[in-house]
Amino acid sequence: MMCPFCRHDETKVIDSRTSQDFVIRRRRECLRCERRYTTYEKIEESPLKVIKKDGSRIPFDREKIKAGLEKACFKRPISAETLEQVVADIEADLYESFDREVPSRYIGEKVMEHLRNLDHVAFVRFASVYREFKDVNDFVEELEPILRGMPR
Ligand SMILES: [Zn+2]
Repeated sequence: MMCPFCRHDETKVIDSRTSQDFVIRRRRECLRCERRYTTYEKIEESPLKVIKKDGSRIPFDREKIKAGLEKACFKRPISAETLEQVVADIEADLYESFDREVPSRYIGEKVMEHLRNLDHVAFVRFASVYREFKDVNDFVEELEPILRGMPR
């Protein structure tokens, strides 16, 4: 875990607890600058299911959202921290708005909403691919070859 202040990569965990369902709150201290900060770490096993457009259910996977965002933002001036924050915002929204199942369409709309405010080029890339597939889980795999042929 990298220190957000000095970017040193050794920290110690001072305190750890599960603050709400499936989130672990950890108090950390940097071994170099000794500043303290808190991380919220999501447990891999998430109970949220995504309803795909064909009606099937698959486990929610934040990495898919992240992969889609990274591809849409390829070579754009957007930091990894910003993308991570967008994923965290979307994820928090999903857990707040849905109990067990979330339509994949909803996730796609949320991603578009964030990208629209973040970067026009990334938004257009994402939107053009999204319109074609209408399913956030399908297009992530489809996005790469399509983006490869796009102007940067
Ligand atoms: Zn530090």
